[in-house]
Amino acid sequence: MTKGTDGRSNGRKALPLFRAGLNSAGRFAEDILFPRRCPVCDDVLPFSMDPHPGLCSLICRECFPELSFAGPLCCEKCGRSLSSEGSRAAKHPRLCADCQSHIRLFEKCYVLLDYAPLERDMLSDIKYRGKKGGLELFALLIFERLGNELRGLGAEALIPVPVHKERLRKRGYNQAALLAERLSDHLGIACREDILKRRINTRAQKELSYEDRILNLQEAFFTDIMEPSASGNASRLPETVILVDDIYTTGGTMEVCTEVLLRAGAKRVYGLCICAGREQ
Ligand SMILES: [Zn+2]
Ligand SMILES: [Zn+2]
Repeated sequence: MTKGTDGRSNGRKALPLFRAGLNSAGRFAEDILFPRRCPVCDDVLPFSMDPHPGLCSLICRECFPELSFAGPLCCEKCGRSLSSEGSRAAKHPRLCADCQSHIRLFEKCYVLLDYAPLERDMLSDIKYRGKKGGLELFALLIFERLGNELRGLGAEALIPVPVHKERLRKRGYNQAALLAERLSDHLGIACREDILKRRINTRAQKELSYEDRILNLQEAFFTDIMEPSASGNASRLPETVILVDDIYTTGGTMEVCTEVLLRAGAKRVYGLCICAGREQ
């Protein structure tokens, strides 16, 4: 998993003039020089001329079955895989323990995969090692598995959960934004990175209780798009939106971002994450 680098994307960075002149012949040459690699085992994948390549050009046949898709039973609120019916209170058999004990302002969150060791490594590769190939795979899988449901929500915008400027400068990209852009192509829903913003947080989230985490996050996220004014100016914020993030852990980030958007005039906020930890 950690061996090598994403030669393809590094190559793309290193050759701006080459990129600028891309046409189909250029794409062919690029794929020869920097072939797509499996985001799990790093093997070279079959060549594809298609700008939206199929599954076999995004993950190898051997690695695909290793992915842990969420389900079959998922929490109706946060989307994480549930353990077994018997371990939950009969009152809310389709909610995880977290969603039973915390308020959820978002309508529902959709989750593609369990946060299993393989998925954890893939997300780390994307976040910390610049290997972004997995995002294209995740976008396609979300489209194939959840696309109909997501399109049925009537959402007008995909809003990536932002990272603060300093992190963006260090990493060079926000993985949630890259995913949302890809998904926007697949789903035909606009990607709006201008709506939600993030200030630098000084306190480390990991050391805080759930309540302090929420307070910390409330200071971090904001939007400058305001509610409709008394003069009747329409809000520029869409009524129904989908927040996009890479991982759902305690739900704190999703919850606080939802709160910010509802306050600013959104009516319904849904969530979409690549991974969430299975209920224990
Ligand atoms: Zn592979
Ligand atoms: Zn839940």
